[in-house]
Amino acid sequence: MTLAHILGYPRIGADRELKKATEAYWKGDIDQAALEAEGRALRARHWQDQQAAGLDFITVGDFAFYDQVLNVSALLGAVPRRFTEQDAPAVVDLDTTFRMARGRAPTGTPAAACEMTKYFDTNYHYLVPELHEGQRFRLSSERLFDEVEEAKGAGHRIKVTLTGPLTWLWLGKEKDGREDFSRLELLDAILPVYGQVLARLAGQGVEWVQLDEPALVQDLPQAWKEAYETAYNQLGNAPVKLLLATYFGALGDNLRLTVGLPVDGLHIDAVRAPEQLTAVLDNLPSYKVLSVGAIDGRNIWRADLALLRERLSEARLRLGDRLWLAPSCSLLHVPVDLAREVGEGATLDPELRGWLAFARQKLDEVVSLARLIDQRATPEDRQRLAEASEALEARRASTRIHRPDVAARLAATTAADAERASAYPERAPKQARRLQLPLFPTTTIGSFPQTGDIRATRRAFKAGEITLEAYEACMREEIAHVVARQEALGLDVPVHGEAERNDMVEYFGEQLDGVAFSRFGWVQSYGSRCVKPPVIFGDITRPAAMTVRWSEYAQSLTDKPMKGMLTGPVTILQWSFVRDDQPRATTCRQIALALRDEVTDLEAAGIAVIQIDEPALREGLPLRQGDWQDYLDWAVNAFKLSAAGVRDETQIHTHMCYSEFNDIIGAIAALDADVITIETSRSDMELLDAFQEFAYPNEIGPGVYDIHTPNIPEVDWMVALMEKALDRIPAQRLWVNPDCGLKTRGWAEVEPALTHMVEAARVLRRRH
Ligand code: GLN
Ligand code: ZN
Repeated sequence: MTLAHILGYPRIGADRELKKATEAYWKGDIDQAALEAEGRALRARHWQDQQAAGLDFITVGDFAFYDQVLNVSALLGAVPRRFTEQDAPAVVDLDTTFRMARGRAPTGTPAAACEMTKYFDTNYHYLVPELHEGQRFRLSSERLFDEVEEAKGAGHRIKVTLTGPLTWLWLGKEKDGREDFSRLELLDAILPVYGQVLARLAGQGVEWVQLDEPALVQDLPQAWKEAYETAYNQLGNAPVKLLLATYFGALGDNLRLTVGLPVDGLHIDAVRAPEQLTAVLDNLPSYKVLSVGAIDGRNIWRADLALLRERLSEARLRLGDRLWLAPSCSLLHVPVDLAREVGEGATLDPELRGWLAFARQKLDEVVSLARLIDQRATPEDRQRLAEASEALEARRASTRIHRPDVAARLAATTAADAERASAYPERAPKQARRLQLPLFPTTTIGSFPQTGDIRATRRAFKAGEITLEAYEACMREEIAHVVARQEALGLDVPVHGEAERNDMVEYFGEQLDGVAFSRFGWVQSYGSRCVKPPVIFGDITRPAAMTVRWSEYAQSLTDKPMKGMLTGPVTILQWSFVRDDQPRATTCRQIALALRDEVTDLEAAGIAVIQIDEPALREGLPLRQGDWQDYLDWAVNAFKLSAAGVRDETQIHTHMCYSEFNDIIGAIAALDADVITIETSRSDMELLDAFQEFAYPNEIGPGVYDIHTPNIPEVDWMVALMEKALDRIPAQRLWVNPDCGLKTRGWAEVEPALTHMVEAARVLRRRH
């Protein structure tokens, strides 16, 4: 019999109950007992869902009040010293984990929060384990064992999930140690604690433990590969069965290593890497279970059960009862329940809804698929299969998806369309003549404070309490206010402030055809923060101009060159659920063409400076370096396609906010933006080394004002930063600007900070 299971379930709750409860706890509105009760209730409900769907195991250990990687840090006692008296404290309590995550909690002394970063290539952020030489570890949390008791108490057959030791280390970072200290040296200290955990679980009657090791789909240094052998030779002796879970890609050169590790089962991702199934089958020892991740855990499309049944028939034949089925990865990365998207206020129409499956629906898909493969399908399974086939057939044929005009335009696009008319050295003087900017021109990244008033107005509009006219009038008023304040501050290239935008991707998604929005499709991004990604379901077109009237209005209020503001094609793609019926590159090019029209419309409306933000360019990098070039080629090309329709005299800006450029500097230069503004203030301009070494040819605005803190930067400090920039980049190519948009800041901070920034530019002009 084929077993059906999942690697993990979303924990936020269909109504974001977890978000509401944790935030209430942080604010002091509820106590810890109430928070724990909400956690228990959510777990009980999610286990019940899994049980009711007919999964053979329910999965315990995927719950976290903040983050599952942080949970393992707590389990191992890996708490940085600023939060605790000693290495490996006896108990890491809930508030300590909250302090690690956010710097403060209802109890305990505040301290600088741990770094947070994206989990592999997802939009989920985890807390980076901080590791130092000689660090000690010990079993410091009872939480996992308590949850196992809870699940057993509810009568479930369970499997426990836990991040594996090597992936946990892989996700960590070395902090203050010898220069050549490697966190891998800590493996020997960690393994005994993992051994203890497994023994405790065995003592609780747990049969299977799933150790998540997605690091195995990345390029691993030789020492790490060897460490996998050492670690699993040791853990393989544990008195439980181990399922080694890999996902987000192919095992590739780690396939033989992985398949050979002495564990009882292996999970592979057969959605991202369907081609690896045969190779794994050929190499899998005959004592091992193979869990095939056949349902997409990263996307929201309904599975093609008929196709999967056929594709998996060989695996079933070769493995017999050793075949398990699951989603490709934890369902943490998809929204909770499509059933919520019906009734009054629904934003997804029935046809579109029929093409989708959220976490709850994916449980049914796994269960039905397992029974279909075994030829023990119930009438319900057969009906699910028929409905899926019908919906998918309709999707394939739908005129809402395939638009001949889009295909024709894409086919007619030439390489020349992605190139500006002239090279930068010819464009620059033309732009200088038109824009008449001083040396060290000052600008901002786009957004100004999203005040409570702005948000309240938007809420009122969405709730139907005020008319579109009234809403737009308020936004125009806000724009006028923002433009006037920038004039008073003396900024050289003002912006309109983005008051009318709720979110930099949603705003464009709502105006493009081929993109839909769910009403409750929330996905955890970090901690209590959730995002509701747009759903790109069809060919993309732009029925009407999206930003032109706002920019035009803003320009009418000033003689300075107003900067138009757009979100780039790669970022729109990266922060959405993307259709799975064509390459991502094609979808990205479609978005690029829609944006290209917006860019040329802005130009025609007299906007001389246009910024196309690409903060997500870097995070789109594939997990394997060997795949980087292909991605960068199409991503860069999409950006250029969106930008290159303008005349030489129109200045294209782009903006990126992350602090690693070294390995992609060639691609950044290839974007050929006239000006790039980047985040640098926290790195003391060291980041510019990459630009200097590469002899980056165009203009750069290295951020001098860290907008992530409420601190107001002093004039001298910003001048000093710019002097460091001047060691690397000539004055003629430098701009003065903040690190990122100001939407999360208040006017009380922004006003003095920008006053100082403009003053810093004046000091620099006098000096150079
Ligand atoms: N233009 C956007 C803003 O200023 C850019 C945001 C970003 O880079 N994440 O808000
Ligand atoms: Zn930014």
